[in-house]
Amino acid sequence: MVVMSPPLPARERPWAPKLRDSPMLWDIARAVGGGPFHVVHPETFAENLGAMVDALAAEGVAGTVYYGKKANKASAWLRECVRPGAGVDVASVPELVHALGNGVRGESIGVTGAAKPEGLLWLALRHGCLIAVDAADELERLAHLGETAEVLLRVRPPMAPASRFGFAEEALAAAVRRCVELGIKVRGFSFHLDGYDPVPRAELAVRLIELCQDARALGHPATKISIGGGIAVSYVDADDWARFEAGRGEGWFHGGRNPARTYPYHQAPTGAAMVTAILRHDALASRLREAGVELLLEPGRALVDGAGFSVFPVLGAKPSGEHLITTVAGLSMSLSEQWKGSEFLPDPILVSASPREGGPVRTAVAGSSCMEYDVLTWRTVELPGAPRFGDLLVYPNTAGYQMDKNESGFHQLPLPPKVVAGDDGWQLDTEYPIQEIR
Ligand SMILES: *Cc1c(COP(=O)(O)O)cnc(C)c1O
Repeated sequence: MVVMSPPLPARERPWAPKLRDSPMLWDIARAVGGGPFHVVHPETFAENLGAMVDALAAEGVAGTVYYGKKANKASAWLRECVRPGAGVDVASVPELVHALGNGVRGESIGVTGAAKPEGLLWLALRHGCLIAVDAADELERLAHLGETAEVLLRVRPPMAPASRFGFAEEALAAAVRRCVELGIKVRGFSFHLDGYDPVPRAELAVRLIELCQDARALGHPATKISIGGGIAVSYVDADDWARFEAGRGEGWFHGGRNPARTYPYHQAPTGAAMVTAILRHDALASRLREAGVELLLEPGRALVDGAGFSVFPVLGAKPSGEHLITTVAGLSMSLSEQWKGSEFLPDPILVSASPREGGPVRTAVAGSSCMEYDVLTWRTVELPGAPRFGDLLVYPNTAGYQMDKNESGFHQLPLPPKVVAGDDGWQLDTEYPIQEIR
């Protein structure tokens, strides 16, 4: 029986270990007052985005990749979305303003999100954004705002009958008819599915093409379908994940806290390859072409994959039974997975301030608040030496939902700053665009 949890080394893009092992990491730490802090790498985002735009083109499909902005709040990504075939998907006024302020034009912004406040609808209309609507009353409100709305009607997936989002079948047909009366242009249809399987996405997309054709018969300019986000990411290699899943048990976690559910940290296909798989299933690509329909995507997590990491200064470590508990400056709120009763599983990496003797240790990792449950890593992970005050503990690949989804000013601590890294240097990520570094 394996008593100790096997390692789960993160897959990383070359920039991340390079920066982590360079003096620049310590320069940044000093400049931001120690930490915690997050590092983001827009060039990797641009690579991910470019690969997805290319995947559409390679299958001969016209379309747009909208960055699902809620995955990470940094401004740096937005500048990369100012390119043909790209846009941003937002769900609030601040998100919309943030995108506009960084140069993304309204025509390249999708506005989704459940029931939308009046101000968001109004601003979206003013800027000619594509608005996803999934309730009849919202259509009525839109019609009274005095601009011609262009909407996608969001469909409730047949496989998710209890979902709060999307019109059910009959309500959808009624909404398409009502839009004719209200003077709202139905530009097409959308859905967002849980899970990471290409097949149901392709199958529902085929259904949405038919809906476009029906809507055209009523005079609507229905030429777009959005298949939402949920493009898969692999954080670790297949073998490591299989070994981990096969053996996992309470004994691997401090306090026996083996999470009931986690993200599938390895899966296939991922990223642009998953987009290709969707387009090839059921001849979706040729159906889109023949029907003259564009494919829109709203990936969040997959675009920031490999494009950031989080750094926590070590405050100290003490024994707890067979292992250590390392406490870091910062909170588990900067690792949001913990706040779903789950765990961010890729191994953290110790960057020691000084050489370490004594060999490897096992440790759980706690945040510096006074809450018993403020724990970044319940799993007892192996580090090459005992962490000490002054070291840095780096969590790899945190840009997708981990970094800043749940952060708050708890204990009146400031939010950890984000640092934008490029080949030549770094700068703080700020709300408004400033000179880019490359
Ligand atoms: C959250 C969300 C996305 C992005 O999802 P990812 O899993 O990060 O790709 C896209 N579209 C909608 C409507 C969403 O709610």
